[in-house]
Amino acid sequence: MSKTIKTTCPYCGVGCGVLATLKDGQVSVKGDPDHPANKGRLCSKGSALAETLALDGRLLKPVVHSAETTWDNALDEVATRFKQTIAKHGPDSIALYVSGQLLTEDYYVANKLMKGFMGTANIDTNSRLCMASSVAGHKRAFGADTVPGNYEDLEQADLLVLVGSNLAWCHPVLYQRVAAAKAARPNMRIINIDPRHTATSDLADLHLAVAPGSDVALFNHLLCAIHEQGAVDSAYVAAHVNGFDAALEAASSGDVSVTGLPRADIDAFTRAWVGTEKVVTIYSQGVNQSTAGADKVNAILNCHLATGRIGRAGMGPFSVTGQPNAMGGREVGGLANMLACHMDLENAGHRATVREFWQAPQMPDAAGLKAVDMFRAVGDGRIKALWVMCTNPVVSLPEADRVKEAIEGCDFVVVSDMYGDTDTAKLADVLLPATGWGEKTGTVTNSERCISRQRSFLPAPGEARHDWDVLADVGRRMGWQAAFDYETPAEVLREYAALSGLAAGHGRDFDISALSDLSNEDYDDFTPQHWPISADRNGGRFFADGQFYTPSGKANMLPLHHRSPANAPTAAHPFVLNTGRIRDQWHTMSRSGLAPRLSQHMGEPYVEIHPRDAEDLGLKAADLAEVTSPHGRAVLRVLISDKMRRGEVFAPMHWTGTHASDGRIDALVAAEVDPVSGQPESKASPVKITKL
Ligand code: SF4
Repeated sequence: MSKTIKTTCPYCGVGCGVLATLKDGQVSVKGDPDHPANKGRLCSKGSALAETLALDGRLLKPVVHSAETTWDNALDEVATRFKQTIAKHGPDSIALYVSGQLLTEDYYVANKLMKGFMGTANIDTNSRLCMASSVAGHKRAFGADTVPGNYEDLEQADLLVLVGSNLAWCHPVLYQRVAAAKAARPNMRIINIDPRHTATSDLADLHLAVAPGSDVALFNHLLCAIHEQGAVDSAYVAAHVNGFDAALEAASSGDVSVTGLPRADIDAFTRAWVGTEKVVTIYSQGVNQSTAGADKVNAILNCHLATGRIGRAGMGPFSVTGQPNAMGGREVGGLANMLACHMDLENAGHRATVREFWQAPQMPDAAGLKAVDMFRAVGDGRIKALWVMCTNPVVSLPEADRVKEAIEGCDFVVVSDMYGDTDTAKLADVLLPATGWGEKTGTVTNSERCISRQRSFLPAPGEARHDWDVLADVGRRMGWQAAFDYETPAEVLREYAALSGLAAGHGRDFDISALSDLSNEDYDDFTPQHWPISADRNGGRFFADGQFYTPSGKANMLPLHHRSPANAPTAAHPFVLNTGRIRDQWHTMSRSGLAPRLSQHMGEPYVEIHPRDAEDLGLKAADLAEVTSPHGRAVLRVLISDKMRRGEVFAPMHWTGTHASDGRIDALVAAEVDPVSGQPESKASPVKITKL
């Protein structure tokens, strides 16, 4: 007897539908042909999901101070210690660090507990590391964090420009859709802007190996070309855009030579962009993970707004998110500077609406600490009680050694995770066993605003519990019985959907109010839907009517100037380190590392270096090299490749201190952040390389 469940892949922001079949105690997976994101496709990671379900290493019981205990004891300890800390040091002495892999229902309860009841905005998410700059850019330009288009736009475009995105490895099914579209329409052109020549560059008609951090200069130059070549849509700008003149003036003062690109390539890029109406500009971590990340996003948006190439089929800017529910976290207010449903913490009207709806005893009126600052506050003792949920900051945050020291020194640390042996879990005072993919049930939103269900098809192992349930239990133990009296995730979603209707009343874009009376059966049967989902609207593109979410209803173009990365190479640290994903691993490998076939692609941490740089350093292929920065050290296998620019190296971000080699690459990355978005600069760290 077999049973097949429709669920969603837990890895990247493409959000592919998965059919999980349980037969004779064995699970198999394949792509869901009915899901709009993947239409039956899966990549290597998604295809190997069934191989990651073994219980080896799973945390099966709560642990307090290294001893297994009951849930009652563990949650009483959590509630008591948080209550005592707030009473003694105030609400801002606690923090919750969550994850773009939580489900929306988990995220909603976490945000409500912290911002409405514990009384602090010190809740931030590891999505801060992946797309906070896109959020900031969208809000500055559109007045809301709105992704205008959808995946079909990528297939319908005549020109696709990929900026700082190795789509082939990081969003493989979206890449497959693009490759299929190009094969069907050979006239479709692709331009790839990336310091590295990647697997994505192989599909491109033109690869621009731009200097790290120079994207603003390139898109400012494009804006000037749009103006000079008469491609500004003056009627659109007059009706729907503020700030054109100031943006153009700032752009005109720039110098495109900082991109390091040959003039002929720059001209080919601007000619193609200006001359093609149906253009989609896709951007990802090469844009976002930068101290100028928000400005890079706005430099791209400026060009689309100046030409009116937004809100129509086959055109527009498109941010691809890293994690499966990064978008859901943005929507639900999982960032320290946002409220639920795209409302703003610093807007008194929005605060009043949310506070009244939640019947919340208190609510902060200013943004909390963003991820990097949160762990600085843990380190200097301002944060005295920390809860880390579904993420591994000892590996993934910049200056990871300092983060580790900070957590070691924190008075009280709670970690909720599926695994008890992650680098962060090892430092916990209280370990709470969490359910994972295949066991959890709830919703996620992918990069094109499509809400899908994750469904359980396996029982929770041991005593593992769902994160929303544990958060609600702590809320009840702290005295807020009625506010956290949820029995099912469907109840949580209905409440969230009702709140979104009030947000829409404030002119917010995020509206799923039609789901507020979803029955439990409808929740079970929910099929993927793009938001908005309201009485008036169902899916579709945003901005087709030229209306934006700013007070004036017009979009904003911004005056922008090139800024170099925060740290330039020095004599002591002469190389620029770029970090990123590889095709077959996910984040810190706690799940993907369980599938042997996924380790066949790249089996150990490596540093990719140009042949002439390798020769200068006396490095041969497969040597071991020590890579050091002012912040840390890693030992990596040498991969010599002419796909790198000279003076720049690449290393993957996945390996942890628990692996035999020492590949904890974020130990080397400086904790420099974008002043607008708070996103760290993970793509340009000066390092030294020495043969071991
Ligand atoms: Fe999963 Fe992303 Fe691969 Fe789709 S593309 S199967 S969502 S990892």
